[in-house]
Amino acid sequence: MTRYVAERLSGAKIAIIGGGAIGAALAYRLAQAGASVTLVERAYPGSGTTGRSFAWINGFRKFPREYHQLNARGIREHTSLRDELGGDWLHTDGGLFWITDDDADAVAALHQSVRQMRDWGYRVDRVAPDVVVHELEPDLTIGAEQVSEIYVCPNEGWIETVRMAQALIRAAMERYGARVVRSSVASLPRSGAGVGGVGLADGTEIAADVVVNASGPEAASVAALAGVALPVRRQPGVLFVTEPAPVSLRHVVRSPGCNLRPDGGGRVMIQREAFDTRLTDPPDRLVAEALASEALDHASRLAKGLAGIRVEAVRVGVRPMPRDGHPIVGFEPRVPGLYEILTHSGITLCAVLARLVTEELCGGSVPELEPYRPERFVVG
Ligand SMILES: Cc1cc2nc3c(=O)[nH]c(=O)nc-3n(C[C@H](O)[C@H](O)[C@H](O)COP(=O)(O)OP(=O)(O)OC[C@H]3O[C@@H](n4cnc5c(N)ncnc54)[C@H](O)[C@@H]3O)c2cc1C
Repeated sequence: MTRYVAERLSGAKIAIIGGGAIGAALAYRLAQAGASVTLVERAYPGSGTTGRSFAWINGFRKFPREYHQLNARGIREHTSLRDELGGDWLHTDGGLFWITDDDADAVAALHQSVRQMRDWGYRVDRVAPDVVVHELEPDLTIGAEQVSEIYVCPNEGWIETVRMAQALIRAAMERYGARVVRSSVASLPRSGAGVGGVGLADGTEIAADVVVNASGPEAASVAALAGVALPVRRQPGVLFVTEPAPVSLRHVVRSPGCNLRPDGGGRVMIQREAFDTRLTDPPDRLVAEALASEALDHASRLAKGLAGIRVEAVRVGVRPMPRDGHPIVGFEPRVPGLYEILTHSGITLCAVLARLVTEELCGGSVPELEPYRPERFVVG
C-alpha cells in the first residue's frame, strides 16, 4: 500500500466509486486525514442498497470472534461519527431478540450464543416477556405461552441511512474539501501495471493514486473493468414500510415471524427474511409488492396497532454478498492502485471500516483487516 500513498495521506489523490454508507464514510475519514478525495456517484448519496436497508446496527450472534468484535466496534464508531457530525440519524435504543420455546435445538443454540457473546464482553440482558410488554415495548404482543425469554442488546439500534450518507458527504466537502462528481464510472484507465484513475460516462478521466471500489452490489462489474473477477454475489431483499401507525416502537425487534423497527414519523419497517428467497435478480417489483399484505399480516400479530394500517412503501435492495459472507477489504493483489471495500452488514460496519482503511492508507498497520483481504480468494 505504501507504494502508492506516502506515510501521510496529505495530497494523495483518492477516487471513491460510490456514495453509499461505505463510500460516504470513507470519503469523510480520508478527506479528514488530508487526502484529496473525489467521490463519484451515479445518482445521489444513499441511493443504492444503503437506502434500502433494514439498517440494524448489531453484533449479536456474529461469528467468529474477530468479526463480532469488528461489528461491536462498528456500533461504537457510529457514536463517534454522530458526535463529530451532529444530527439525529443514529438511534441506539437497543435491540430485542427471541425465538419460540418449541424448537429445543434452536433454544440450545441461542443459549450457547448468548454465553459466547457475554464471554466476549458484549452486553446481552435476559428479560421475561411481560417485562417487555409492560415496560419496554407496550405496543407489542408476545405469546408468553410460546416465548419464555427475550434477549435485549441495549447498545444496538438502527440508522437513518440516507441522512447519514448525506451528512458524511456534506462534512467531507465543507470541512475537508472533498469533491463529489455525479456520474457513472465506465472505465478504469491503466497507469503502468495498475489503475491510474476513473473514466466517466462522458469520456472524461479523473487521475488518482488510489481508486476505491465502494460500489456495493455493482462491485463485481466495477472490478471487471480492471479485469478482476470479484467473488461477490448479489442477494436481493425486500422491506415494507407502513403509513404512520399507532405503534410506539423504539427497539429493533427480531422475532421468528418477522422483524420490526421504527422508520420515522410513526412508520414501522417490516422485514420477513423468508420472502427474500422469492426474489429474482434484478428483483421484480410486482413480486415484491404482492408480498406486502402477507408481511403486514405477520407484523400485526406482533403489534396489534398495525391491523388495518396500509403499507406505504415497498423497498427492494440488493445486498453485496462476498462468497464467504465476510467483508472484502484491501488492495487488489494483481491490480496495483485498486482498493476493494464491500460487505454485507455495511450499515453496521461503514464507520469502523472507514476508520481502519484510513489508518491503513496513512501507513499504519491494521491487523483487524487481515481476515478480510482479497488475497484469500486467490488460488495459486
Ligand atoms: C433488505 C436488506 C436488509 C439489510 N439489512 C441490514 C442490516 O440490518 N444491517 C446492516 O448492517 N446491513 C444491512 N444490509 C446490508 C447493507 O445495507 C449494505 O451492506 C450496505 O448498504 C452497502 O453499502 P455500500 O455503500 O457498499 O453500497 P451501496 O449503498 O449500494 O452504495 C454503492 C453506490 O455506488 C453507486 N455506484 C454503483 N456503480 C457505480 C458506478 N459505476 N459509477 C458511480 N457510482 C456507482 C450506487 O449508485 C450506490 O449509491 C441490508 C441490505 C438489504 C438489501
